[in-house]
Amino acid sequence: MSDILLELKDVRQSYGDGEGAVHVLKGADLSISKGELVALVAPSGAGKSTLLHICGLLERPRDGEVSILGQSTANLSDRQRTLMRRHAIGYVYQFHHLLPEFSAAENIAMPRLIAGRSIREANERSRALLDIMGIAHRAEHRPAELSGGEQQRVAIARAAANTPSLILADEPTGNLDPATSDKVFAALSQLIHEQKAGCIIATHNHDLARKADRIVTIADGIITSATL
Ligand code: ADP
Repeated sequence: MSDILLELKDVRQSYGDGEGAVHVLKGADLSISKGELVALVAPSGAGKSTLLHICGLLERPRDGEVSILGQSTANLSDRQRTLMRRHAIGYVYQFHHLLPEFSAAENIAMPRLIAGRSIREANERSRALLDIMGIAHRAEHRPAELSGGEQQRVAIARAAANTPSLILADEPTGNLDPATSDKVFAALSQLIHEQKAGCIIATHNHDLARKADRIVTIADGIITSATL
């Protein structure tokens, strides 16, 4: 079986029509393999979030091909896209979006419950992820009682709850100080390599990007490899 998790071919996205149209992606190609952590570094407005939304099946491109685990997504129904998002993709945002009324452990268990697993199975996975992320001692705390770095580690663990093939992280350390960012990145990296998932992390932090397996950028709507 191929090691390629995600493949984008000639992906194009624009917003608006006619004279005022903004052409964000103009033929983007990208492949992500199992166990590969790819940093996406590009200036604001270059199209990072657009690219992640398309990879995460949150947005349909105007043109081009997005395949996940060898399956083309172009002809999937909305329902099929939702199921693929739920089972194959985990998303982490700059702001954690954890549910305030629930503990860290419950927040992490939630996606697995929604996917139809038993409470026992969801709790087991939650505990394992709390361990991998180094926050087992914070399991019973609610988000407001956690530091920014802990909140983001819970958000990453939640994204990994259903053992997704692909984790998409949109500036997950954008709000954190450098030392905390390092810890969060290290935890994410460990998770990706242990679970043989693939990951795209959009970041402005060059020190973190250099620790990724590969760095790519978006220049004039095209994805190219980059060195910093
Ligand atoms: P980045 O994440 O690199 O900052 P984005 O992908 O958010 O870039 O945005 C790329 C460009 O596309 C920007 O000019 C932005 O204003 C525009 N854009 C993004 N989403 C939309 C949308 N839904 N409607 C119109 N314009 C959009």
